[in-house]
Amino acid sequence: MKNKYSIFSLARNAVTYHENWREAWRSPEPRKGYDVIVIGGGGHGLATAYYLASEHGIRNVAVLEKNWIGGGNTGRNTTIVRSNYLWDESAHLYEKSLRLWEGLSQKLNYNVMFSQRGVMNLGHTLQDMRDIERRSNANYLNGIDSEVLRPEQIRQIVPIMNTSPHARYPVLGASFQRRGGVARHDAVAWGFARAADREGVDILQNCEVTGILRHNGAVTGVETNRGRIQAKKVGVVVAGHSSVIASMAGLRLPIESHPLQALVSEPLKPILHTVVMSNAVHGYISQSDKGELVIGAGVDSYTGYGQRGSFSVVEGNIGAIVELFPVFSRVRMLRQWGGIVDVCPDACPIIGKTPIRGLYFNCGWGTGGFKATPGSGWVFAHTIARGEPHSLNAAFTLERFSTGALIDEHGAAGVAH
Ligand SMILES: Cc1cc2nc3c(=O)[nH]c(=O)nc-3n(C[C@H](O)[C@H](O)[C@H](O)COP(=O)(O)OP(=O)(O)OC[C@H]3O[C@@H](n4cnc5c(N)ncnc54)[C@H](O)[C@@H]3O)c2cc1C
Repeated sequence: MKNKYSIFSLARNAVTYHENWREAWRSPEPRKGYDVIVIGGGGHGLATAYYLASEHGIRNVAVLEKNWIGGGNTGRNTTIVRSNYLWDESAHLYEKSLRLWEGLSQKLNYNVMFSQRGVMNLGHTLQDMRDIERRSNANYLNGIDSEVLRPEQIRQIVPIMNTSPHARYPVLGASFQRRGGVARHDAVAWGFARAADREGVDILQNCEVTGILRHNGAVTGVETNRGRIQAKKVGVVVAGHSSVIASMAGLRLPIESHPLQALVSEPLKPILHTVVMSNAVHGYISQSDKGELVIGAGVDSYTGYGQRGSFSVVEGNIGAIVELFPVFSRVRMLRQWGGIVDVCPDACPIIGKTPIRGLYFNCGWGTGGFKATPGSGWVFAHTIARGEPHSLNAAFTLERFSTGALIDEHGAAGVAH
């Protein structure tokens, strides 16, 4: 691959104090109109624009972001990536994404620090273990790697975890997906942004959509704080604000928006080499490459748009982690934050058409959409370009909430992103 950022260019920029440093992406003024407008400059929106250009040759595209790219859930999540979902529809979609993750740094020529350190889901009761075995078997049938571990195998992988049979929630076993792991969230947004920009996509930051323009049942453009912009097609990928944009188009989505919090500790030397999750104890943990422990749990029980942390969640979350890892009881926490996630009743996304011609929605990823970023962008680009879904997202329609063809992934989603 041609590397425009060679060692010589680095050296040249160092001696010229980066004066001629090329911006990673342009900041153009909005054009009068585009073939496609993507609303939302998170990972999903940027990936959609990138694949529209690179896979479908549609380059007259703008991504409209009300703040800065990656400042929403993309930059706020705990970066767990896996594909071991229960039902065929979700398993195939997330597996497509995982395969894209595996070549993403090379494809984008940008290091997204995808680290396949494995994702472990603990079982603490006999029912947990039955569910884990059922899901692992389903994964096996779908060609997705998944193992069921016994406590002695878990001890080898995570020796610092309390696996004593006398623990309040004894660890009876776990599922383990070795190809799962974590990635650097900001880099995912920046990598897709730079690659999309190179394909000719306009990335418009500080550009808030305030209205959806329609005529004769079809979308014609958007109203923004930087003026009116026309478009033949509009794709909406705004995560926690999906219902807000939907209402601008007179649509109602089966979505609740909840805050979801996370926190990180001070940096420690490498001590935890895989991702550990527990639905029953209600928490999950990994260690970032910087050394911070990255900790989270489920959504706040109330709906809202406040991206803040709260003490009750810290208390419950830390209590759960210390239950599993008493060794961390004296580690100091560094910071805490919240994001807004859009949750569908069946814990699965909506990716497809709406009753308004040319208006497409990609939303409802809830607590688990980061892992889907490349796959979601890939199928959404196909859907917008062709005007019909790819077979991988054909089941994830808005209509399923009226036909009843739901895909209940609560078991595989849960706290376990
Ligand atoms: C604390 C936390 C932990 C999580 N952990 C995980 C995890 O470990 N693994 C996992 O797979 N998933 C996780 N998730 C979920 C994951 O972050 C999301 O599903 C995913 O990042 C959604 O990506 P996105 O690009 O759709 O959304 P976002 O990154 O939120 O992007 C949407 C963008 O739309 C913009 N926008 C909104 N309204 C407008 C408007 N009117 N005009 C223009 N732009 C607008 C927003 O500013 C935002 O930048 C977590 C989420 C949170 C909050």
